[in-house]
Amino acid sequence: MVSKCIFCAIIAGQTPSTKVVENENILVIKDISPKAPIHYLIIPKKHIADIQSFDPEDTLLAGQMIMMAHELAKKLPEPGAFRLVVNSGADAGQCVFHVHMHFLAGKEIPMF
Ligand code: AMP
Ligand code: ZN
Repeated sequence: MVSKCIFCAIIAGQTPSTKVVENENILVIKDISPKAPIHYLIIPKKHIADIQSFDPEDTLLAGQMIMMAHELAKKLPEPGAFRLVVNSGADAGQCVFHVHMHFLAGKEIPMF
């Protein structure tokens, strides 16, 4: 439900977060409980629960999320390696049901 969604509240400025960058369609924040030296969340401003809920009209937005990772990688130290993770569905470990990509970088990025 959008009104109870923590990421919608962050996007609306009603809940504090540490912003990394944003554009018209996407907000990137630091994860509150980082699992790697760099752990960002790439969050579309449109509320979509998970990848299973994407419509064909969300194709561009999905690409924009990947391209945001491309932009974030430019700011990493060489060699600019990173891991993207999406937990899509409760059984896959998703806790916040507003779709997002975990952007993980730094030494010894954990598998998760
Ligand atoms: P997932 O398990 O894929 O749904 O990931 C949700 C992520 O959101 C977790 O890594 C949490 O640490 C993170 N998280 C939850 N609440 C906040 C918040 N208020 N600000 C930043 N990150 C959050
Ligand atoms: Zn939301």
